[in-house]
Amino acid sequence: MFSPLTHLKQSSLLRRGLYGLMATLMAITIGLATPTPSHASIFDLIFQGIRYVQLGNMSDRDEVNLGAQIDRQLKAQQGVRIYNRNASINSYINEIGQRLAATSDRPDLPYTFQVVDNNSVNAFATAGGFVYIQTGLIRAAENEAELAGVMAHEIGHITGRHALQQMRQRALASGVAGSLGVRQEALVGLGVQLALHLPNSREAEHDADRRGFHNMGRAGYDTTGFISFMRKLEGRNTAEFLSTHPNPGNRVNNLQAMHSAGTFASNAGVGTDAAAYRNRIRGL
Ligand SMILES: [Zn+2]
Repeated sequence: MFSPLTHLKQSSLLRRGLYGLMATLMAITIGLATPTPSHASIFDLIFQGIRYVQLGNMSDRDEVNLGAQIDRQLKAQQGVRIYNRNASINSYINEIGQRLAATSDRPDLPYTFQVVDNNSVNAFATAGGFVYIQTGLIRAAENEAELAGVMAHEIGHITGRHALQQMRQRALASGVAGSLGVRQEALVGLGVQLALHLPNSREAEHDADRRGFHNMGRAGYDTTGFISFMRKLEGRNTAEFLSTHPNPGNRVNNLQAMHSAGTFASNAGVGTDAAAYRNRIRGL
């Protein structure tokens, strides 16, 4: 039984409901169309309880947020264990990292340098300034300049936004990216896979080498450290580093050519004292 009054109430409720829905849709559309800095973080875009991430033009804040979530997953689900037996090692690695970060191509990003308790020779990076150096790699380096070379290479992957580019490509190729973006959970999963298991492209490796070389030079290190360590890693086919950082082709020769250009000739010898290095890592 519909009295006219009840009918009126119902249609007015329906209209209010429609206005509410329209307002919500408009808010979402504006959220998608407007660059993120003037609005709430894109991570706040929630549709039916699922968070979506837009991959294009990600702000630094969103990138750091994404990196922090990948970091949590690496530790919670992938068994990445942070070294905690001697705090002086962690602070030494952080000291080298922050020195390099300050002269990197993205000096304003907050960087997090972590020592991973794993004796295989590897280092990796994700998005948003998260860099991981394994204890095996710290032991394999001869001096601070060699270690700084690899760390600068990892920073180069972050400043070149290589993980973000690969996440975007893989998300599009696998069809997980829709009109709203990529489900945050799927994107974090891709980031975890990229950090640990999937090789960087040759282009990304070449770019990280180039950025890393100039970064370590600007930080004042002897750039021959980068060359000698890469030569050493390539001589060891057991180095896990090469499985995710494949040789882009003529790696050592390319680094040698950059060194021969002489830009950082005045850094000669800085960071190459092997005894001083062994002293700094003796607690490892
Ligand atoms: Zn690499």
